[in-house]
Amino acid sequence: MRTVDEHLAEVLSVVQPLAPLELSLLDAHGCILAEDVVAKGPVPSFDNASMDGYAVRVADLATVPVTLPVTGDVAAGPASPLRVQPGLCVRIMTGAVMPAGADAVVPVEWTDGGVAQVRIDRRPDAGAYVRRAGEDVVAGEVVLTDGSHLGSAQVGLAAAVGRSRLLVRPRPRVVVVSTGSELVEPGAPLAAGQIPDSNSIALTAAAVEAGAIAYRVGIVPDDPRRLLATLEDQLVRADVLITSGGVSVGAYDVVKEVLSRIGTVGFHKVAMQPGMPQGFGTIGPESTPVFGLPGNPVSALVSFEAFVRPALRRMLGAQVIERPRVSARTTAELRSPVGKRSFLRVWVEVRDGARVVSPVSGPGSHLIAGMARANALAVVPEDVERVADGSPVEVMLLERRSR
Ligand code: AMP
Ligand code: MG
Repeated sequence: MRTVDEHLAEVLSVVQPLAPLELSLLDAHGCILAEDVVAKGPVPSFDNASMDGYAVRVADLATVPVTLPVTGDVAAGPASPLRVQPGLCVRIMTGAVMPAGADAVVPVEWTDGGVAQVRIDRRPDAGAYVRRAGEDVVAGEVVLTDGSHLGSAQVGLAAAVGRSRLLVRPRPRVVVVSTGSELVEPGAPLAAGQIPDSNSIALTAAAVEAGAIAYRVGIVPDDPRRLLATLEDQLVRADVLITSGGVSVGAYDVVKEVLSRIGTVGFHKVAMQPGMPQGFGTIGPESTPVFGLPGNPVSALVSFEAFVRPALRRMLGAQVIERPRVSARTTAELRSPVGKRSFLRVWVEVRDGARVVSPVSGPGSHLIAGMARANALAVVPEDVERVADGSPVEVMLLERRSR
C-alpha cells in the first residue's frame, strides 16, 4: 500500500506543463498565459468624450446659463476636422475624438439638448468628461504577466491593447475509455447483467471542468486485444489517457493485464476510500501519461479528483492545482477506516455564519446518486477513525453550487 500523497507525488513527477502555443484570444480563454503582454501604445489611444454632450471651452462658460452656437457633430469613429473656436461648441458623442480647441464636455443632461444652438445650465471643470489618452494603460506597460489565468476580462484587455493571439499553455487533450463487457451506451436498452457506461460520461465531463479538451471514446469490452488496439489508436490525439475499470484483481481485469505489458504503468493499492486500486504510468512513443482508474463510479470520480485533476491543472500551467479546501464543522459523526484517507460525499453550506457539512451518502463506492448530491468531499486523514459530531473536518469544494 502507498499513501495518497505518495501516489500523487509520482503522478506530478511525470506530468509537465505543456509547451506554449500561440492561440487566438477566444481559444486562449481559460488557459494560462506563457508570455508578458506589453501594450505597444496607450489606452485609450486618443482623448475622447466620456459622455454624450457638447465639447466646449470652459472659458466660454464663465457665467451660466449661457447659449452657444453649435457648429457641428462629432460621433465615435474617424476624427472630425471640426475645431471648437472661442464662443462656439460642438455636439459630441461618447467615445468620439475630442475636437481641437475644446477642453471639457458638458453632458447633454446639463443642457436643453439644442442642435443649432444650445443652452448650457452648468459649468464643467476643465477636463471634465474627457478620457485622456493613456489614462487606462500607458505605452510599454506590462498589462498581463506570464502565468496569469486568462478569464473574460483578461482576453478582453488583450484585445484592447491590440492583440489577436496570445502565447499560452494549451489545454491538455484527454482521451477517456471505459472498459467492461457489462457496459452499454447510456440510453440503450439493458439486457440482464448490463449497465450504462456512466464513467466515461462523468470522467469526460470532469476533464472538461478541469480545463482539458476531452474526447470520450466510450466502451471497450474486457478483451485485451481490443483494449490494446484502442489505446494505440487513441495515442495520436492524447496528452493524457484515462481508462476506467479493470484494475483490481478480478480474472477479467484487462487494463491491468494490457498496461502492465506496455510502457511503464504500475498498479498500486493506494490507502484511500473509495479508489484503492490505481494504475499510473506512461505508454507510447511520447511517454503519454495514462491513468487506470477503478471502475466503481464513485471510485473513478474521487480518483479523478485526487490524482487526475491535479495532473491536468499542472499540464495547463496553473499555479494552484488543488481544489479549494476549507474547514467546516460536521453535523453528524463521520467514520473512516484506520490507515486510509477517506473522501466522504458531503453537502457544505454556511449556517448562522459558520460553515457546516452534512453527509449525503453512505461510503459505498457504487453509490453514484450520493456523489451527485454532494458539493464537497470531506477528507478524513489516515490516522483518524472517527470525527465526532460538531468537530471540524477538512473539505474539498467541488464545482456544484446549488441543490
Ligand atoms: P471493475 O473495476 O472493472 O472491476 O468494475 C468495478 C465495478 O464498477 C463493477 O461493478 C462495474 O460494473 C462498475 N463499472 C465499471 N466500469 C463502469 C462504467 N464505465 N460505468 C459504470 N459502472 C462501471
Ligand atoms: Mg470491469
